[in-house]
Amino acid sequence: MNEGAEDPLALGQRIVAVLETGARTATYKLATLTALIDHCVEHLPADPSAPLEVPVRALAHRVVEIYWRQVRPFEGQQLRQSSQPVARIPRAVTTLREAAGAQGAGLSLDLAMIRCPEVYAATLEDVALTLVRQPIHRLQKLPGGGGVPFLYDDSWMHDQVSRRTLDAHGGVIRLFHGVAYGLARLSGLLKPALEILWVEDVRRMNRHLDANVPDVAGHLFGRDRTALAPARSALKEAFGARCFYCEVPLAANNPVDHVLPWSRLGIDGLANLVLACGRCNGSKLHALPSVELMDRALSREPAVLEQVAEAIAWPTQYDRVVAAARGVYRGEPAGSLTWAGPGRAVHLDLSSAPDWLRV
Ligand SMILES: [Zn+2]
Repeated sequence: MNEGAEDPLALGQRIVAVLETGARTATYKLATLTALIDHCVEHLPADPSAPLEVPVRALAHRVVEIYWRQVRPFEGQQLRQSSQPVARIPRAVTTLREAAGAQGAGLSLDLAMIRCPEVYAATLEDVALTLVRQPIHRLQKLPGGGGVPFLYDDSWMHDQVSRRTLDAHGGVIRLFHGVAYGLARLSGLLKPALEILWVEDVRRMNRHLDANVPDVAGHLFGRDRTALAPARSALKEAFGARCFYCEVPLAANNPVDHVLPWSRLGIDGLANLVLACGRCNGSKLHALPSVELMDRALSREPAVLEQVAEAIAWPTQYDRVVAAARGVYRGEPAGSLTWAGPGRAVHLDLSSAPDWLRV
């Protein structure tokens, strides 16, 4: 048995080899891998060679979160995510959306969980079981079943595995030594590649989409600016109508900026949101902000953020943002350039890092 690839580059090559071989019949593998990478970033082990246990239900939650926006109608219809007649994961997520009254609307998954805890729990179970029956044990194999597991032990999984078997294995998959660290380090490279493959798959599964139609990528992975509108007005009231980065007074319809870029980790919690002017938002785009800026965002008065959160029924997700930021910065090579303002970049230097960045 392979005891893990300590070299992230070799790990990345093996993942790409699996993804490039054979046509996918569903986007589940891409979703599972994305969820796994994000989990590793947010649970980066202090020791690079450490193994990691990943709860399957935690992965299932991330997968639900990914499909949550994707199952909304696009040009009047739901996009197919599978070439099979029944697509269990999108169906389960759609059921939850309907139960929460989120059809077509910008309601967040967090709010749906509060509104319909039982339906959410059932959805999570359904998705967790689907994950161990299908994509998890196919993720590290070539079509036809060849290949040696290089991410985790999947010997107990098969297409009809029961919930009892899942629970008998602690409800977790155990990543081999070094895999969690390797995946976290590869996040910045793999995630954009996964999104490109995903858009290609969805186009292939939805032949009615014209080659020059609309923004499929935006529908699948973009962020609705309108969905963030409630956060904008509430943040203005709490912190004033100035750009978080350059402090210019803001126009009425200014952007709400994800401090940790949405494309790196899609965290919508208030702890990751600031008000920005168009110039800063456009200049920052997908760049990682400097540690100093991240620190300033995390140093905002927690009580004020909590008040805002309560007023608009929006999660703060402070701990999640801290964990994600720690994983992202620690996974970056030392000396990487980070965004420090329009036209300004600084080299990443963790030697004088703030407390939250230490392990
Ligand atoms: Zn600005």
